Amino acid sequence: MASRLIEKYMRGAYLPHIWCAGCGNGIILRDVVQAVENLGIERRDTIIVSGIGCSSRAVGYLDFDTLHTTHGRAIAFATGIKMARPELKVIVLTGDGDAAAIGGNHLIHAARRNIDITVVVFNNNTYGMTGGQFSPTTPTGDIASTAPYGSIDPDFDILALAQTAGATYTARGTAYHVAQTTNLIEAAIRHEGFSLVECVTICPTHYGRRNKMGGAVEMMKWQRDNAIPVAQARKVRPEELVGKIVYGELWCCERPEYTQQYAAIIERARGKEK
Ligand code: SF4
Repeated sequence: MASRLIEKYMRGAYLPHIWCAGCGNGIILRDVVQAVENLGIERRDTIIVSGIGCSSRAVGYLDFDTLHTTHGRAIAFATGIKMARPELKVIVLTGDGDAAAIGGNHLIHAARRNIDITVVVFNNNTYGMTGGQFSPTTPTGDIASTAPYGSIDPDFDILALAQTAGATYTARGTAYHVAQTTNLIEAAIRHEGFSLVECVTICPTHYGRRNKMGGAVEMMKWQRDNAIPVAQARKVRPEELVGKIVYGELWCCERPEYTQQYAAIIERARGKEK
């Protein structure tokens, strides 16, 4: 990260960070900070919320108003903040386990309401902090500490889930595609409504090592060689996309935003009282 961004947005006293050498989390964190910088949003108008897990440690390093909440509940806390202070930009930083397993219900209902928060999911396909257990996005057959002979759970697509539940913006980036991922996060923050950006990242320590993917460099090269832009992916047969990462903006539409509807209800109720 450029030293200017570090000085402006990071809590120097909390560095160095705790992430392993080669972890992709720092790249995604940099993308978030760069997106905020590009948008010119004031720090005092931004709240960043996280749950529990390696990626959720990100809020500790960010010099914003931040909340490090309980496991799976980041979106619930963010919903409360947005309802109380709808004028603020509310951004959630979360992991695949935090957002899609224990926090799955909160994700579904925030998407259904189309509340204007941006969720950035650091998807490393595992529970890194607790030792490499399989998560909802661990590809079927892959090795985890809780699946030493391969996971039999079908993995699922967080973006498809969010879109089906009612999200009005979904996108996918990777740790390798820095500029594109920054642009996607920027668009998600700008979007009025529930937005979710899945950032496919790397966990060399648990996921990569167990699945014999090599170190951080090899994992990044794998992302480079197996990622397909969404426009290109739409032209090929579904079977050709098995094992690939489709990146870019996958869904964007408009629908009434929740806090605005709530404000309208308050106005209507006040009108009746007169
Ligand atoms: Fe990153 Fe994995 Fe280490 Fe957690 S365990 S800091 S996700 S490399």
